[in-house]
Amino acid sequence: MSLFDWFANREKAEPPMLQPQSPQEREVADGLWTKCPACGVLTYTKDLQGNWLVCAECGHHLRVDSDERIRQLIDAKTWQPINEHLQPTDPLKFKDRKSYKDRIRDTQKATELTDAVQTGHGRLDGLPIALGVMDFRFMGGSMGSVVGEKLCRLIEYATLERLPVIIICASGGARMQEGMLSLMQMAKISGALQKHQEQRLLYIPVLTHPTTGGVTASFAMLGDLILAEPKATIGFAGRRVIEQTLREKLPDDFQTSEYLMHHGFVDAIVPRPQLKRTLAQLISLHQPFYPILPPLNADPKQVNPELVLSHTALAVDNQISVNQDS
Ligand SMILES: [Zn+2]
Repeated sequence: MSLFDWFANREKAEPPMLQPQSPQEREVADGLWTKCPACGVLTYTKDLQGNWLVCAECGHHLRVDSDERIRQLIDAKTWQPINEHLQPTDPLKFKDRKSYKDRIRDTQKATELTDAVQTGHGRLDGLPIALGVMDFRFMGGSMGSVVGEKLCRLIEYATLERLPVIIICASGGARMQEGMLSLMQMAKISGALQKHQEQRLLYIPVLTHPTTGGVTASFAMLGDLILAEPKATIGFAGRRVIEQTLREKLPDDFQTSEYLMHHGFVDAIVPRPQLKRTLAQLISLHQPFYPILPPLNADPKQVNPELVLSHTALAVDNQISVNQDS
């Protein structure tokens, strides 16, 4: 049977008995108390929210949705969302246990989002930035054509307005329901980032739990500086797939922020309470460089070494762990 026939048959097939609507993946309950998934300690939810959704007992970073993340990072009343009107379509008429169309509709209703990323601009400690925040609640933060298009337009906007870009990554990878259209977003976003970079503008991806698949294989790893939250899962293929391919047992901390920093893929692990301040510091360190940077083809020996960002100084100041090798 050809692929076209398979899709045609799926369209004709009776809709299967649907599973009850699975609750969106939420770690923070609506109730008064929230149980930490790592240590099991119950915390008053308001206290937990006041502590950036980090468990005070064990330091576990609970999952943050995109609205909360924008509240945490952007100064009050400065957030301006862009391209909110973009809606996913169902070009392949994809159906598994449930049709993609229904899945989109139900997820939109449950999350009040149009797709798995929110983009916009605002101020972070007074500094103007362009921000994209992925939301894992929306189909596992998967990257379809809307996520790709919104991020691409965000980066293009930032290039025009000469703004730094920050993308908070949280994704299971490319969205299989849109097939090839999802995969091409990797190249599209990478191309937009290249143009942003040619203008010597700053791009910082922040890798949160989990950042995997096509997102890791494209914009999550293309930052000028790559930050990660502690103990986040970051990888391309799943652990089991790699173990079966290599026929080797992988280390326990494989595909964690700490493992990646140790191996040079991540520049700094920043606990969430320090994230806003760290980003503000990095952006303000970078901003005065614009007018005084030499042309791209200048002799690197002529660059004033005092202008080079000192990772160590930043770490001492912020008490964060940084990759000394990068
Ligand atoms: Zn805990």
